[in-house]
Amino acid sequence: MKLVVGNQKSYLNSNEINHFIEGLTNISNPNVIICPSSIYFDRFKNTNIMLGSQNVSSYPSGATTGELSAEQLKSLGVQFALVGHSERRQVMGESIKDTNIKIKRLLDNRIVPILCVGETKEERDNDKTKEIILDEIIGAFEGFSTDFIEKIIIAYEPIWSIGTGNIPNNDEIEEVAKYLRDVIRDRYNTSNIILYGGSVNKDNIDYLNKINMIDGYLIGGASTKIDGFLDIINKC
Ligand code: 13P
Repeated sequence: MKLVVGNQKSYLNSNEINHFIEGLTNISNPNVIICPSSIYFDRFKNTNIMLGSQNVSSYPSGATTGELSAEQLKSLGVQFALVGHSERRQVMGESIKDTNIKIKRLLDNRIVPILCVGETKEERDNDKTKEIILDEIIGAFEGFSTDFIEKIIIAYEPIWSIGTGNIPNNDEIEEVAKYLRDVIRDRYNTSNIILYGGSVNKDNIDYLNKINMIDGYLIGGASTKIDGFLDIINKC
């Protein structure tokens, strides 16, 4: 079975999230994580869905207005959190050092980080995909021991694929996933869970499922519409 992670970004309003949750009963795949807007965490109380956060503060609990600390997430039953998502890096200006600090804060609070890595279209066209990913991994893992690193889930999300409907072909995804596996084995002596993210939907899931090298998916837009999302879950 594949791991299915839904990143709902800030798409759904209050009524829409209720409708989504109503549709989540009786799912057959237990490996489903939803990262809703944090204001909706409590609404998932009576579901068997695992909760993820879309972000975490790089600061501990305290005088940091507007932040959401790892300690707070833990106390709400959150088990996973996205870090290094390209939208936070490109739109909110987060650095790889911020990502590194956030990973530490999460692991110190026993929350599993889901680290997003991936290249822009320009970097891909210049054949820089592997170089970019390697830099991101090295920066994100800086100073961590193997027992820390092995807990991190890595999501390969080509930035040019997010929200565009364009996806790499399976050979291309497989090549990057294999590269990631080789790098983390050779450098850190670990074997991590690896996901693919970027325009995954109910129409391409059968095709993507033919890839052996990935353990699941990080899904944005298609995780906000319950019918299509259930189709994906049932095929994973
Ligand atoms: P889409 O599935 O909408 O392309 O978004 C992917 C993503 O950013 C998941 O984190």
